[in-house]
Amino acid sequence: MAEETIFSKIIRREIPADVVYQDELVTAFRDISPKAPTHVLIVPNVLIPTANDVLEAHEHALGRMFTVAAKIARAEGIAEDGYRLIVNCNKHGGQEVYHIHMHLLGGEPLGPMLSN
Ligand code: 5GP
Repeated sequence: MAEETIFSKIIRREIPADVVYQDELVTAFRDISPKAPTHVLIVPNVLIPTANDVLEAHEHALGRMFTVAAKIARAEGIAEDGYRLIVNCNKHGGQEVYHIHMHLLGGEPLGPMLSN
């Protein structure tokens, strides 16, 4: 069994977070340390630690992450100008929280995809 992270507590509403969307499959909340004017994390309610742990059984929830990202982007008014969706995996990907999540970033030009 994978170990729960702080994101499970946010999903269960046990600790505060600025939750912008929740349904039976996913939860979306604002990043505590935003890297852009809009920075929302979209997470499956079920604990999947990393992209390496994704199974066919997770496809419904993972697909929902994209439809919710598009919905939030429209609600934030950033859909037309555009935005970036990022999923980091493990050490080289810079993953800090081991509950898979999609970063939705936008609201200004985001620059090159990688800094090097
Ligand atoms: P990662 O580097 O794993 O892709 O991204 C983890 C993200 O989670 C970071 O951007 C970090 O700021 C955010 N984060 C970490 N802890 C919390 C928290 O307790 N609440 C919220 N809202 N965001 C968090």
